[in-house]
Amino acid sequence: MSQAETRAFEADVARLLHLMVHSVYSSPDVFLRELISNAADACEKLRQMALTDPGLTGGDTLAIEIVPDPDAGRLTISDNGVGMTRDELIDHLGTMARSGTEKFRQALEEKDQGKALIGQFGVGFYSAFMVATEVSVVSRAAGSSETWRWTSDGSGEFTIAPAEEGPERGTRVELTLRDDHKEYAQAATIERLVRHHSAHVPVPIKLLAGEE
Ligand code: ADP
Ligand code: MG
Repeated sequence: MSQAETRAFEADVARLLHLMVHSVYSSPDVFLRELISNAADACEKLRQMALTDPGLTGGDTLAIEIVPDPDAGRLTISDNGVGMTRDELIDHLGTMARSGTEKFRQALEEKDQGKALIGQFGVGFYSAFMVATEVSVVSRAAGSSETWRWTSDGSGEFTIAPAEEGPERGTRVELTLRDDHKEYAQAATIERLVRHHSAHVPVPIKLLAGEE
């Protein structure tokens, strides 16, 4: 098995991350909607694949689980969807593969109006870095026996390494929250945001209340 490896983000991604972290948003709440929507997409993808290959889900109920941990100042969003292989983690989270993100970056650079723009574009995965000093994505692709951990502080590089433990299938996104965004480790905050912004997600969302 390949070992831990540190790589640079594609130049465009690094620029987008810099802009995102250094733009002043009145509310970075949208990061949660983005991560939940990715988790729901992953469940939908697996559901589609399971139509022709039912063994892939093993009959599991596809679901999203959110765990706020106020003591540790962390927030975890998990899904038992399609998951990502090592190469997919590198390609999907390390390059500007999506035209939507590229458009967002261009607009952000041209207009310097992040707040207004955030509603018009899907800001995507990288919005996690608005609230987190470190983001880890632990994933096992459906049908694979390997689990990989992608980690970054959003400053230009990410590390990819075999994971000691992780979801049996699917993806767990772990956020170490910034000191000024510890409110996202509170179950009450998360519950309110899920109700407001993710009410129509077609996958059950389970919120595990942390200790407060
Ligand atoms: P988008 O969702 O618009 O494609 P994102 O920036 O939100 O863009 O995510 C980038 C890509 O990373 C997704 O297209 C998907 O391939 C992958 N990804 C992100 N989160 C997950 C997840 N929880 N499970 C599987 N793949 C994911
Ligand atoms: Mg997305």
